[in-house]
Amino acid sequence: LRTIVLVVALVLAAAEASAEEFFDLVEIAQGVYGALVVDRPPTYVFANALVVIDEAGVVVVDTHQSPSAATALVGKIEALTEAPVRYVINTHWHGDHVYGNQVYRDRYPGAVFIGHQSTREDMLGEGVARRAEELEALPESIHQRELWLETGKGPEGRPLTEALRERLEYSRSARTRYLAELGAVDLVPPNLTFERKLVLYLGRRTVEVRHLGRAHTRGDVVVYLPDVKILAVGDLLEDGFPYFGDAYPSGWAKALQEVGSLEAAVLFPSHGPILRDRELLDVETRLLSTLTEDVRQAVADGLSIEEAKDRVVLEEFRSFFGGDDPARAEDYRENVRAAVERAYREASGQLE
Ligand SMILES: [Zn+2]
Repeated sequence: LRTIVLVVALVLAAAEASAEEFFDLVEIAQGVYGALVVDRPPTYVFANALVVIDEAGVVVVDTHQSPSAATALVGKIEALTEAPVRYVINTHWHGDHVYGNQVYRDRYPGAVFIGHQSTREDMLGEGVARRAEELEALPESIHQRELWLETGKGPEGRPLTEALRERLEYSRSARTRYLAELGAVDLVPPNLTFERKLVLYLGRRTVEVRHLGRAHTRGDVVVYLPDVKILAVGDLLEDGFPYFGDAYPSGWAKALQEVGSLEAAVLFPSHGPILRDRELLDVETRLLSTLTEDVRQAVADGLSIEEAKDRVVLEEFRSFFGGDDPARAEDYRENVRAAVERAYREASGQLE
C-alpha cells in the first residue's frame, strides 16, 4: 500500500509540475487572472489567456495553441473556483488563440464559444487550411533539427555553439510534442457570433465583448471588464513588431484609437507582459497611422509596391522595436517591408 501511495503522490506531483510550466497565473484584480506564458514552455504555447471568475460561471479569453496547455489551465481554474467555465471568448481565429477550445467543450458541456462572425468563418475556412499546412511542415522541420544536432553543424553549416545546440534541442522537443497534439486538434469555432458588441451579464460582473472594426484580422474582438477597468486587447497590441499577415492597417489604426478612448487602467495583451501604462499603445497607434498615411501617399504618387517599400521605412520606430541592434536590424527592415506590402494592397483596393 505504501508503494501505491508513493506512486500516486509522485504521479500527482508530476502532473502538478507539468501544469506549472506552461504559464504563470497572476491575479490582476479580484477574480481576474492572467495566464502568462513562460519562457520555453514544453510545447507550443504563445498566447496568454485571461480568466474571469464570477459566482455564475467563469469566462476564459483565448485557449492556447496546444490542448495540453488548455488542460493545465483548466486544472488551475478548478483549484480556484467550483463555478464551471460557461463562456470561452476567442479574440480572433489564429491557432495560438483557439486550438485549445476542444478542451473546454469536452470538460464543460454547454459552454458557449463567443467570437466575431468572421472568426467563425475564418476558422472553418482559412483556419482548416493553415492547420493542414502546419501538420505537413512540422515533420520536416523536426527532421532538420535532428540533422543539425547529429552533425554538429547548424543552419548554413555553422558549427553549433552550446547556446545554439540548447536552443535547437528545445525547439526539436517542443515541435515534436506539438506535432502529436496538433494531429488531435478538433477545431471548435464560436457558436455564438456577433458583429459589433455583445454583453454578458453574469452574477456580479459584466463582460463586454467588442469588435472595433477590421484590424490585425478582420474579426478581432476586445474584452472589457468595466468594474475593474481591465481590457484584453488580443493581438491588437503585442510586445514586438505587429503581425500584418492578415491585417487591415488603416482599420487597425482606428481600432487602436478606440482602444485609447476606453477607460482602461490595465491592458492585457495576448503576447507579452501586462501593460499598466500606455507607452506601447501610443507607439503602435502612431506606427499604424504613419504606415497607413505614408503608404496612401505612395499609392497616390503612383509608386509601385517595391518603390513604396523603398520609400516607407518607418525609421522613427526602429529603436523602439530593437532595430538598432545590428543582429535585429535586418528583421526590422523585413517586418516593415511586409507591413508596407499589406498596407499597399489595402490602399490600392486589393483586399476584399
Ligand atoms: Zn496571436
